[in-house]
Amino acid sequence: MEKNIKIYDSTLRDGAQAEGISFSVEDKIKIVKALDELGVSYIEAGNPGSNPKDLEFFERIKSIELNNTKLTAFGSTRRRNIKVQDDANVKSLLLANSPVVAIFGKSWDFHVTDIINTTLEENLNMIKDTLAFFKEKGKEVVYDAEHFFDGYKANPEYAMKTLKTAIDGGADSLVLCDTNGGCMPNEIYEITKLVVNKYKTEVGIHCHNDCGMAVANSVMAVFAGAKQVQGTYIGFGERCGNANLSTVIGNLQVKNDYECINQENLELITDIARKVAEIANVSLDDKEPYVGRAAFTHKGGMHIDGVNKASKSFEHINPEIVGNERRFLMSEVAGRSTILKKIQKVAPNVKKDSPETIQIMDRLKELEHEGYQFEGAESTFELIIRKNLGKYKPFFKLENFKTIGEKPNESGELTAFAMVKVNVDDKIKMAAAEGDGPVNALDKALRQALEVFYPELKKVHLTDYKVRVLDTKEATAAKVRVLISSTDGKHEWSTVGVSTDIINASLIALIDSIEVKLLRELTKKIKAYI
Ligand SMILES: [Zn+2]
Repeated sequence: MEKNIKIYDSTLRDGAQAEGISFSVEDKIKIVKALDELGVSYIEAGNPGSNPKDLEFFERIKSIELNNTKLTAFGSTRRRNIKVQDDANVKSLLLANSPVVAIFGKSWDFHVTDIINTTLEENLNMIKDTLAFFKEKGKEVVYDAEHFFDGYKANPEYAMKTLKTAIDGGADSLVLCDTNGGCMPNEIYEITKLVVNKYKTEVGIHCHNDCGMAVANSVMAVFAGAKQVQGTYIGFGERCGNANLSTVIGNLQVKNDYECINQENLELITDIARKVAEIANVSLDDKEPYVGRAAFTHKGGMHIDGVNKASKSFEHINPEIVGNERRFLMSEVAGRSTILKKIQKVAPNVKKDSPETIQIMDRLKELEHEGYQFEGAESTFELIIRKNLGKYKPFFKLENFKTIGEKPNESGELTAFAMVKVNVDDKIKMAAAEGDGPVNALDKALRQALEVFYPELKKVHLTDYKVRVLDTKEATAAKVRVLISSTDGKHEWSTVGVSTDIINASLIALIDSIEVKLLRELTKKIKAYI
């Protein structure tokens, strides 16, 4: 039996419909890179005609090489009673220049007659014309049959006819959508099976989670013969969200021997889940299957004893398979292998039981306890490893800083000033700068002072700045975590700082960001010299 499944991620489109989610162009690019690294087959990234941000994204992404994934633009069938080539939305999809387009159309007769107010016949024409238009433009066309299951239950003959029409229009795949998320797994299985048996075209599944069934429904559709699973990587989406793809991949690939991504990438699924959460600025639920922090956490003597004797006594899989780790809450013995890999990048000779490894693990635990998280800030992580291995000498010392005022000026803009005093090899330099807010002013002043010593910093600038207030039981001392991303035009890196004071947290992340750049430059020089 053919067991290859295509994973189709819509975090950037359906996921962006979730309450509280808003992606910048930078965020979107980072998510695309992460999912491409993981190896999903498709990434649905929005509609360039729907807003300028999506258009900018599709422009920028053209220069980025993707290794595993096909970028997909998303839009609807043409509007009623117009020619497909005159439909502005249809035309705008071409601006994305993506190899794949996903087109959604109506399957439910009630939606056709009562919501978009057209005839059943015209709806079929809309499907056929639109798909044929994109096939003619050389695109791979994914057809999303919106409300397919509800439509099938109301009028099976018409719902099937819409699929047949999509095939006639040239659809490369037919994706059956449980748009309202109200179906049960047995219904999904039976209806999907009917479609799979009737048509040769590849069938996909798109489930929403309104009954908490999105993952179960997606898995059942695959058991019925679906070959493509749509969802969002960590499950967020409109209302109760979409099928959580990190769980779907776990269920299909680890438990049922399907191949959704390259087998060797399976151990990335946890890291990528944390990365996506960090970029989206949401907290990943600790109890998320496979990838949550608590997914393999044991508390209580008996369970710990059991797991120590044989892990299968209280674990359904070995956490390392999915890149997660076993944690014991009573006696912290965190899995060292993932961290060890990172340490070995800096010091290849360090072993799992080396005192350095234990010392770094202890330091990481302390920092995590303080509120640090390194999934989105690999560069800070690297600096911590270097500091603990004694392989690090700071490039400068910030002797003093001050930020002043943040009062709107006459034109109403918020301005702030910062002064800094830095020390580089006992040479003192002071600088002052004005900025849009105190952090921006500090960033500018710091760079100005340091550029005298390190001209390579001229190219560096911030691309992203995120603040998260950390849950704390002590309301008086709420901590913030600041995550910043920087670029020198060629590379991008992220650093993190935690403090009860937002300026201080930002400063920690800023200083690390500059140190990382200087460290890279130095490494380059040393390599060139050798
Ligand atoms: Zn959806």
